[in-house]
Amino acid sequence: MHTQIAIIGSGPAGFTAALYASRANLGVLIFEGTQPGGQLTITTEVENYPGFEHGIMGPELMDVFRKQAHRFGAQSKYETIVSVDASQRPFTLTNERGDAYTADAVIVATGATAKLLGSKGEQEYMGFGVSACATCDGFFFRNLKVFVIGGGDTAMEEANYLTRFAESVTVVHRREEFRASKIMLDRAKANPKISFMLNSIVEEYVGTETNGVKKLTHLRIRDTATNAEQLVEADGAFVAIGHQPNTSLFKDMLDMDDVGYIITKGKSSYTNVPGIFACGDAQDSVYRQAITAAGSGCMAAIDAERWLEAQHGA
Ligand code: NDP
Repeated sequence: MHTQIAIIGSGPAGFTAALYASRANLGVLIFEGTQPGGQLTITTEVENYPGFEHGIMGPELMDVFRKQAHRFGAQSKYETIVSVDASQRPFTLTNERGDAYTADAVIVATGATAKLLGSKGEQEYMGFGVSACATCDGFFFRNLKVFVIGGGDTAMEEANYLTRFAESVTVVHRREEFRASKIMLDRAKANPKISFMLNSIVEEYVGTETNGVKKLTHLRIRDTATNAEQLVEADGAFVAIGHQPNTSLFKDMLDMDDVGYIITKGKSSYTNVPGIFACGDAQDSVYRQAITAAGSGCMAAIDAERWLEAQHGA
């Protein structure tokens, strides 16, 4: 099967690219991948996506994104692309069953995945006290007791941010030295609402369930030096141990930084391979918001459309 534009990924970036490209009358296939709708499908309420005065649930928002893109002819494939051959055009994309598709242009919108601890109860309480995004969920913890797990810049930034809402913020870090930059660490240390638990690991997220609604209440924390464990009261736990962009598919093909974020040219979505464009969290280690991902998806569709037009004119 051939398509003019193949979009790999189905978060705000992928669907916005699909919306713009299909409205430009281009044939669009969206490969939704292993997590249709992307990271927002594992959050609860989204209050910072403009246009929704009273907020909207993450999965519902992504459903609206999908329907809006489909309205203009973009088609979803609930398949995962496992390889892309960029050695000749049209590009060839192969799914997990070995079916091949060809595409004149490819938009990479594969996003990033927040790294998680993998401790007991983490999945169970995700969205019910456990979060991987302070900007998204901090507001729900007004006057409450929250914990941030990690010792890098993200952890310090999230801890500082959370002090706007929370009564107290405790940073739990697995050793004594920090990966965070001095300035970020000093700022956190100077904040009277922030305290630190060092040499500490969250072994378990503990909570309750009332009328089918789960709620985190405690963390079971182990001291790595003594192995002593304690159960501490916690209303919220923010895992801030880094993100991994989902770009391994493009290793040795697209230029990336050390972590794996795709490098785009200047203010565009152009990658080093003509005809392949990148948007969303796969190329953004800084902002990582739904709205910025959507904006960059729009850019990728416009870049791809103009690039395709230039190919026909050439
Ligand atoms: P980092 O990789 O820098 O830090 C991750 C932290 O999480 C480390 O302290 C690490 O501990 C800890 N960690 C990792 N895995 C585990 C685990 N399984 N259990 C417990 N702890 C764990 O990631 P960040 O997201 O903090 O930062 C990524 C990049 O983004 C950095 O370059 C950073 O400077 C940048 N950034 C910049 C900001 C700014 O300038 N405003 C804001 C946010 C990020 P350990 O140290 O023991 O390995």
